[in-house]
Amino acid sequence: MIMLAKTRRTYMQNNKPLWFGQTKRWYDSNRWRRVASAHKNQYPLCEICLKLGIERPVAVTDHIIPHNGDYALFWDWDNLQSLCATCHGLKRAVEHGGHMPGCDVDGNPLDDSHWWNKT
Ligand SMILES: [Zn+2]
Repeated sequence: MIMLAKTRRTYMQNNKPLWFGQTKRWYDSNRWRRVASAHKNQYPLCEICLKLGIERPVAVTDHIIPHNGDYALFWDWDNLQSLCATCHGLKRAVEHGGHMPGCDVDGNPLDDSHWWNKT
């Protein structure tokens, strides 16, 4: 138990991962503002809604693979996608163990981890 508590203190601070403060600086940087606005210009519509045949404007520039403090993943242009506020909220829920509801226009589940997409 004592060992566990020690490990936890090493990686967490105020219930946030240690990289949290670092990535806040990345998000606050002029570089991120430039990258995010360039990405929004190139992809002005929510990419998940587009799969549903809905055109909804982007609200959030999202990291497809969560960067978890990884510098390369954070700045990887190909790891960015445009999402509306609703889809971003759903994706966050999925990352915390939920499932992405709904299907695209072809009837394929939007959730990549759905068994239908495993075949
Ligand atoms: Zn959307």
